[in-house]
Amino acid sequence: MDADLEQQQAELLEARERALKDAKLDTLAVRGGQVRTHEGEHAEPIFTTSSYLFESAAQAAARFAGDDIGNVYSRYTNPTVRTFEDRIAALEGGEQAVATSSGMAAILSTCMALLKSGDHVVCSRSVFGTTVVLFNKFMQKFGVETTFVEPTQFECWQSAIKSTTRLLFLETPSNPLAEIADIPALAALAHQHSALLVVDNCFCTPALQQPLALGADIVVHSATKYLDGQGRCVGGVVIGPKQQMEEVLGFLRSAGPTLSPFNAWVFLKGLETLRLRMEAHSANALQLAQWLDQQKGIKQVFYAGLPHHPGHQLAKDQQTAFGGVLAFEVTGEQSSAWRFIDATRLVSITANLGDAKTTIVHPASTTHSRLTPEERNEAGISDSLIRVAVGLEDVEDIKADLQRGLSAL
Ligand SMILES: *Cc1c(COP(=O)(O)O)cnc(C)c1O
Repeated sequence: MDADLEQQQAELLEARERALKDAKLDTLAVRGGQVRTHEGEHAEPIFTTSSYLFESAAQAAARFAGDDIGNVYSRYTNPTVRTFEDRIAALEGGEQAVATSSGMAAILSTCMALLKSGDHVVCSRSVFGTTVVLFNKFMQKFGVETTFVEPTQFECWQSAIKSTTRLLFLETPSNPLAEIADIPALAALAHQHSALLVVDNCFCTPALQQPLALGADIVVHSATKYLDGQGRCVGGVVIGPKQQMEEVLGFLRSAGPTLSPFNAWVFLKGLETLRLRMEAHSANALQLAQWLDQQKGIKQVFYAGLPHHPGHQLAKDQQTAFGGVLAFEVTGEQSSAWRFIDATRLVSITANLGDAKTTIVHPASTTHSRLTPEERNEAGISDSLIRVAVGLEDVEDIKADLQRGLSAL
């Protein structure tokens, strides 16, 4: 290529990058991170290659030495995966993102990179069940102790902190009761003790809540849920400051739970419609929560969009909408909850969430069945509780289906 043309192309590339630099969320969701190849493709290409060519033996040596920046092997870097990482980092407002093979791999990689034997973690007791297992069973085995606390009680977090505390970990809103943890307050507490606040932002996504802007240090995602949005692929991502992300990347490259390029591509396309979907999920869920709140046969509805929910004001402060997941207790015991679920004909009986299709599940006998009855009681998961992850169907049709459930009580 002649030097003038090369110069022109470099300037064009730079101008494009500048145009995106100050772009707003919706623009970043559609265009963030995309790199054009010489083929002129409009959509993002999927690079299904395990390794990459070098121009010469000398370049191979320089790549391996890290003197020449470029691709070597897809456990290390892959252009499709990097496009997804750059796009989600832009949406969360983080310096760098590291994609992983699942949400759990994102949490594990964060812990392995940032904790060592003798360190202590304070974790919300209302986190994803497998996250509890990871801390209790596996991190414990390597000398990392975890104290579980009531997520909404600041004093509990405060009194759980020790001199060895390195990490505070939470999900907000929680699953399934939509408990809201105060991100700015807990970030301040963490920093006061030289610890990091890690937020699992799975339920809101950056479309509704940006934990880093609220003071958190690191965000983790199960991309399997709303980032995909249509129940197709398993994956995860960690977002945060370059310094910590390099550590996470180091673990990932050695341990191997990297994201496949195909899954990265599915998530990339998912991000393009993220805000539209999150707003539609939230609007449908709010309507259903308000309607359920008025129905005979319903004891209590748990959704932060309802003014009587204890986290309502805090959710309004740190989220732009209340999300797609709600829960409610029916009158009676487990048999009533099961009758309700079995009477539905439209919604899907499955434990997944973050899908265009509405899902319904009985937490006590599925997602939370590994807890003892006492632990469930303490966590507020009663036998008559039902969780609905509201999808994108017409809300009147979902309502009619839940009416079938109500009629069966
Ligand atoms: C599903 C989920 C996870 C785990 O993600 P996987 O992709 O299934 O590994 C972690 N946190 C939350 C809040 C989840 O809902």
